[in-house]
Amino acid sequence: MSKWIGIGLLVAGIVLIVPLIIAAFALAIGGGGLADCGPDDTSTVADTGDGSTGPGNIGPIPGKFIPFYQGAAAQFGLGDKGPSMLAGIHFHETSFSTNVATSGPYVGPMAIGSDYWDTYGVDGDGDGKKDIMNEADAIYAAAKILKGFNAKNDWRDALASYNAGPTKKAAGYGYADDVMKHAEKHHVPATGGGGSTTRGADCSPGAGGGTVSGNVQELAQQVLSLIKGGKIGQSYKSDTGDTMAQLKRAANGQEFQMTCRAHGGPKNVDVNPDILKAIIEASNQGAYVDISNITDKCHSSAESPHYRGEALDLTCSTRNIEKIHEVAKKYGGTNNYEVCPGAQHWHIDFPK
Ligand SMILES: [Zn+2]
Repeated sequence: MSKWIGIGLLVAGIVLIVPLIIAAFALAIGGGGLADCGPDDTSTVADTGDGSTGPGNIGPIPGKFIPFYQGAAAQFGLGDKGPSMLAGIHFHETSFSTNVATSGPYVGPMAIGSDYWDTYGVDGDGDGKKDIMNEADAIYAAAKILKGFNAKNDWRDALASYNAGPTKKAAGYGYADDVMKHAEKHHVPATGGGGSTTRGADCSPGAGGGTVSGNVQELAQQVLSLIKGGKIGQSYKSDTGDTMAQLKRAANGQEFQMTCRAHGGPKNVDVNPDILKAIIEASNQGAYVDISNITDKCHSSAESPHYRGEALDLTCSTRNIEKIHEVAKKYGGTNNYEVCPGAQHWHIDFPK
């Protein structure tokens, strides 16, 4: 869905210039260098500001996007290659959102046409809005479009259609080949590896599983995306539906809103981002995190500081609690006496 005329020019014979253009772009906005992963490597990405780019460590995917690629590919049945292909498109179109058009025929992180958005727009982060400029929404929409083009059966064909439209897809095969090359360099596993998938110095695939990063808003979007993709549970519906409502607030850049009068409510508090990081990382490492509550109406006591945004409850449907405790500990979490099955939930404190 990009400017296929531009791509057409590249296909027409200016292929050799691509690495130079990308190098110039990287130098212009980030001061990054070129990856040296073979003569045809065009996957260099500018420093994304997440601190993971450096000499010999070039070409990372910002870790915050990984759950979106994985969740979108899972939801729309794109198979194991799906996350990498979405990353390949995201890189090719906007250098992982560092070069996003806000107007014109193709806009947003995935450069989707507004006509397509009307049909294929998705609320990828579950915040109740379909926003073409929102990364989760755009990545999920791209996955939906690719499913419509039967991508799992023929990626090259589907990517060509994604670029040039199904009736003119012959013009899109150059784009398809480029994206598939990027996908190869920027491998994203179907699950796990929530951190950067930076390739090693020898150009071998990165190990993945790095530390989760981002601000509360970005982290909340990741959690909502993982819930939507079924990777994280939210099976307990509190009387107020509070946790989902608060996550949606956070995904929109708002503070959590506490309503409990016993704790001075209503008032807004910052949720401890370490709670969200621990949830995401434990999920990435294979645990099934079934959130009961982060906050709840009056579910708090002096020993149970949910009202300060400093505690997490998990239902007994949670699996691999040992892994969750291990990850939580890394983020300053400590579990108290409330454990399954007797207490009917697991409780973990995350003091700020
Ligand atoms: Zn609790």
